Amino acid sequence: MRIPFIAGNWKMFKTVHEAVVFVKELRSAVKDVADVEIVVAPPFTAVHAVAEAARNSNIGVAAQDLYWEREGAFTGEVSAAMIKEAGAEYVIVGHSERRRLFGDTDAIVNRKTSAAIGAGLTPIVCIGETLEERERNETLAILDRQIKDGLDGLGAPQLADIVVAYEPVWAIGTGRTATAAQAGEAHAHIRKRLRQWFGADAADRCHLLYGGSVKPDNIAELVAEADVDGALVGGASLDVKSFTEIVVRSRRAAV
Ligand code: PEP
Repeated sequence: MRIPFIAGNWKMFKTVHEAVVFVKELRSAVKDVADVEIVVAPPFTAVHAVAEAARNSNIGVAAQDLYWEREGAFTGEVSAAMIKEAGAEYVIVGHSERRRLFGDTDAIVNRKTSAAIGAGLTPIVCIGETLEERERNETLAILDRQIKDGLDGLGAPQLADIVVAYEPVWAIGTGRTATAAQAGEAHAHIRKRLRQWFGADAADRCHLLYGGSVKPDNIAELVAEADVDGALVGGASLDVKSFTEIVVRSRRAAV
């Protein structure tokens, strides 16, 4: 029912030119991959050009953030409708770098998630604990709060169509991946909560991604966990070869 989903978060990397060159290469590298959802998230400046370069391919495009208002005097911000018009179908919401560096709270994540859905974008909602929270044994409680507050007000049909990315903060950009067992435990907990709060049908359709130092040599064991449906990849998504390897190795029998 859920085919693997691999999204590359380019963060603040790649000019428009570099982004287009990348997508042209990726397009030919993954042209025969029909059973993985593949998404790249360039910086805002390259969203339109990347969407054009990916047109009629099996590669989807995401923005990395949005603002929840439709339009107005919000200097520097970009709305969901603008992102959609630029050609993206997805948008990352609540990445830990946004939470840590730019003050995105669960309430803000909630507004952004609703705005994305309202404009017809699929939000990729990021949640995850810090190292201190893990060491204090608070991981599952933190995930509960982030899910409850971040997805507040969504109905089951909306939940079914969004993507949730579990990204332990201590594993992002550190080279320290969660073990498959740690990822599996967190994902099973998230799925259980989504079932409780949104019903089994919607929860079973929702893609749950793992993020945090995913590389070609650890993706297979991560997606072997029943509730890990793919990955949100940072550093290793910047290189066509490693990103393609991750896509190819993420394939498993559909759950
Ligand atoms: C991310 O940016 O979402 C991420 C998981 O980064 P990395 O793969 O580099 O840890």
